[in-house]
Amino acid sequence: MDRRKFVSCTAKSTAALVGGGTLISFGSLPKENVDSENEVRKKDWMKEVLKYRKIDAHAHVDEKYYKPEVNLDFADRLGIDILMISDFLRPHTKGEPDDFRARNNFAIKCMREHPDRFIGTVVLNPQYQKESLEEIDRCRDAGMMGLGELYNQTKINDPLYYPIIEKCIDLNWNIMMHSAIGRSRVVPDSNEPPNISLPEDFADVAERYPEGMFQYAHLGGGVDWENACKVLKDVPNVFVGIAGSNNEANMIDFALKYVGEDRIVFSCDYGFYQGVGGMFSAKLTDTQRKKIFFENFSNRLKKGGRNVD
Ligand SMILES: [Zn+2]
Repeated sequence: MDRRKFVSCTAKSTAALVGGGTLISFGSLPKENVDSENEVRKKDWMKEVLKYRKIDAHAHVDEKYYKPEVNLDFADRLGIDILMISDFLRPHTKGEPDDFRARNNFAIKCMREHPDRFIGTVVLNPQYQKESLEEIDRCRDAGMMGLGELYNQTKINDPLYYPIIEKCIDLNWNIMMHSAIGRSRVVPDSNEPPNISLPEDFADVAERYPEGMFQYAHLGGGVDWENACKVLKDVPNVFVGIAGSNNEANMIDFALKYVGEDRIVFSCDYGFYQGVGGMFSAKLTDTQRKKIFFENFSNRLKKGGRNVD
């Protein structure tokens, strides 16, 4: 670029910055690009956001960090009808029965206070297998549905999980499991517990139990998401949740190509604007947005006897 052109472009950029009242400048872009960017700006985004019904397939509640009223405040503003809630067992804890029972009790309490918005999911630790199986019965009687977010006390494909997965198959329950942070294809982050489930572990257990309905948690949670999508490409009974705070460009588009529109599920993991924003920055058709925001998970809930339509 010569100096004359540079001055001209700079002037146009400055005009765009001042005139448009925005920090984004399109002054050096061709006119057709400026026009299309202006169209994006003019769009009534909240109207567009509220047009879609939504199930957040990965939400958390507790008394300190994930307050139910904060969940509902964001959900109301972003048009999220239902949130699948759990008070998950924290990493690097033993996950003893008293711990998981207390956490499930809190989720049950939240669910009872907001029965139209929250569906509770059960947390447990298969190292206490008898207590975990009993906990499924207790929580099912209290109205809960599904497992999750299961944490890293035990890998998803550990045989300790087998009777629990078989019980969930009988109940037609979704099983949502946490996944690793780090470059899972190479080496997980050094802080990750040894029993963290990697994408390969999900593929392994899902192939062992083709009737099982698994959910791979948070593609945007810091894992090597390209690798995760490739590993889960041909594993039809694993849903892939988009939640996470690492919202890299092209993540959902890439998942669409490998996993497909019928197995991606909208989820926030308490990152509401990122979850919703990612869905609108991805190149999705109206039909694909409807499936990912609502229909895919709603169909899975229906299999377990819960109709949220
Ligand atoms: Zn998680």
